[in-house]
Amino acid sequence: MSQNAEMILNSSENQVLEFLFYWKRAIRPGDLKKELNIKHTTLNSILARLEEKNVITWEKYGPVSLTDAGRISASHLTNHHLIIEEYLKKTLKITDKVAHQEALQLAGTFSCRLIEAICAKLDVSHHEFHPTFCNQREY
Ligand SMILES: [Zn+2]
Ligand SMILES: [Zn+2]
Repeated sequence: MSQNAEMILNSSENQVLEFLFYWKRAIRPGDLKKELNIKHTTLNSILARLEEKNVITWEKYGPVSLTDAGRISASHLTNHHLIIEEYLKKTLKITDKVAHQEALQLAGTFSCRLIEAICAKLDVSHHEFHPTFCNQREY
C-alpha cells in the first residue's frame, strides 16, 4: 500500500476525503458545505489541513479536488470504513445506519495494524476493496 495510506485523519477530515472519493470530480467548497452540512469556517480549516497533507488541491475561491496521492489514501481509508462497518455489524450486531456512522468516524483513526487484526477476525483481505460491506450513502 502507498506510504500515504497510513495517514491519520480526524473524523471530519475523513468525511471530506471519503466524500471526494465517491464524488469523483472537483467540487466548489460552497457545494461541499451543503452536501456535508459543515459550517463554512470549519470546512475551510478542514480543507487547509487536507491540502497541507497533499491529498487535495484547492485554489482560493476555486474547486477542491483529490490529488493522485489523495485518491489512493481516500480509497484506502474508505476501505477501512467498510471493514470497520462490517465488523461492527457482524460482531456487535449494531444496525446498518449506526455502524456506518461510527465506521465513518473511526476510519481515519484506525491504524492498518488494527484493521489487519479485524480482517483476520472477519477472514477478509485488507487489500481488497469491500463495497458490499456498506449500503449507506450518507455523510
Ligand atoms: Zn458505511
Ligand atoms: Zn489500511
